[in-house]
Amino acid sequence: MLNQSRVGVVSTMTMVAFLVPVLASVYLSWRESYAREKSLTLGYAQNLERRMDEISGQLEEGADTLQADGLAPCSPQEVKLMRQIDLGSSYIKAAARIERSTLLCTSQGVTNPVSLGKPELATGLDVSEYSIPGRQTKTPHPLKVFAEGKFAAIVDPNLVLDIATESPDVELAVVDSSSGKSGRVAALGPAVSSDWLDMPAHTAQSTILNAGYLVSRVRLPQWHLLVIAATPQGYIDRRIGRFAVFLIPLGALCGGVLALTLWLMARIHSSFPTMLRRAIREESFYVLYQPVIELVTLRVIGAEVLVRWRTSYAEMRPDFFIPQAEQCGLIQLITERVLDLVAHDLPRFLRIDPRFRIAINLSASDLQDVRLLDAMDRFLEISGASPENVELEATERAFLESPSTAKTIGALRAKGFSVAIDDFGTGYSSLACLQTLPLDTLKIDRAFVDTIHAGGTTSHVVEHIIEMAHELDLEMVAEGVETEPQAQYLLEHGVRLAQGWQFGRPMELEPLCQRLQLQASAEAAMLFA
Ligand code: C2E
Ligand code: CA
Ligand code: CA
Repeated sequence: MLNQSRVGVVSTMTMVAFLVPVLASVYLSWRESYAREKSLTLGYAQNLERRMDEISGQLEEGADTLQADGLAPCSPQEVKLMRQIDLGSSYIKAAARIERSTLLCTSQGVTNPVSLGKPELATGLDVSEYSIPGRQTKTPHPLKVFAEGKFAAIVDPNLVLDIATESPDVELAVVDSSSGKSGRVAALGPAVSSDWLDMPAHTAQSTILNAGYLVSRVRLPQWHLLVIAATPQGYIDRRIGRFAVFLIPLGALCGGVLALTLWLMARIHSSFPTMLRRAIREESFYVLYQPVIELVTLRVIGAEVLVRWRTSYAEMRPDFFIPQAEQCGLIQLITERVLDLVAHDLPRFLRIDPRFRIAINLSASDLQDVRLLDAMDRFLEISGASPENVELEATERAFLESPSTAKTIGALRAKGFSVAIDDFGTGYSSLACLQTLPLDTLKIDRAFVDTIHAGGTTSHVVEHIIEMAHELDLEMVAEGVETEPQAQYLLEHGVRLAQGWQFGRPMELEPLCQRLQLQASAEAAMLFA
């Protein structure tokens, strides 16, 4: 039953692991298409805004020139001047003189005055806007007249709106936002909806999805007008297809890899006890030794035992399999195997250096089991070592796990083994609880040693830990020392022992024996020198 529900959970998680990247890729395709289409639509609106600005500038300049020259209204000289203004202005079809809503003459000559009727709207710049019907100007559509003072610019709205767009059915319009649809200054396409005129106050531009269109609006504050560009929403959907072609297969691939990894991990986890038992039987575990040195003399005084698991696929790190073994209650099998391996190696070290100190890692559950005491007796028997040669390392969690742990630790210390706290400060206990623990040695975790920098910016925590250990008269071993300045700092602060890549990586029995032998020979030579 339990197995069935486990299978159910794993299947659901695998499915989710597959679906999440796929759905994420669909969402990404949509978002990317929306962003692209939005930037295009906004670009059209901004282009239109620039054109309106240009017209505004040309109108103002024309009015100023006409005003400054003070020529007789509609005189040949003034008509000539207007022609020059007209030729120099890209969007102005013709320049004109206007008085009381009547065009008196244009840059194309003096004809009968043309009454324009009431202005359609008056903008913020005191610019009035009129329409001249197409039949009067012989154009297929009405022209616009913008008047400022006595000067008027005749503008073809279709020329202003003639912007190159990526697709044909983009709606472009310049509208008077206050008067809605009736205030259209110029528009291409009939679809300007009154909803599009509602723009949040104080925003210069905004884009919305409305009535099947992606609508970008840009304010023209000096004209009191709004420029609108609208692209059919269908364009976004069309673009999604283009992104989806590569994003969705990529999502499916990621989902597949994720689901497969999850499924494999679940399989490894479920078959872990079997794999572990087989590994013990097949002697797939072996140990490496990381030298521990005395900082003052740089002499190797011992080593920490680090277990490894060699499988047919890869070498597994203890960070992965130790927690798993703890979880399924099989850590003792590993500890027994490690003790066995070390008991056979240790005599080699002791023959070279009888004071050699071996440090062995123990788990919380090892310390809860009184059989550990017998196992340690057997270890001494096989290795021929004395308890002073052995240090047992337990993590902070192991120390605090249960009262029975403290009892086992007490019994081990009574037998003469020294006990170290490993990874101190990385868990949840405070510095203050250090004084309550039955301890001989404190291992300064790599996380703290890492904070020691050559420039002097060292975490205060390291200082505190060292001070506290001195006060409690604890031996100290700094872990993970990788640089000379770190070693120097530790030495200056009275830390006696250290291990780390600066002094030696975890190594096999033989190279460590050779190193010890060389050291012993050098010491002997010094003694007899
Ligand atoms: P740990 O006891 O803190 O061991 C030190 C870890 O730091 C080792 O990783 C070692 O290889 C690594 N190390 C040493 N010097 C340096 C350095 O200078 N720089 C860096 N970056 N790393 C350094 P490893 O061997 O992977 O062991 C990981 C952990 O697995 C150990 O942490 C220990 O908690 C656990 N472990 C290892 N062997 C055993 C064992 O036999 N029994 C138990 N219960 N746990 C073990
Ligand atoms: Ca350790
Ligand atoms: Ca550690």
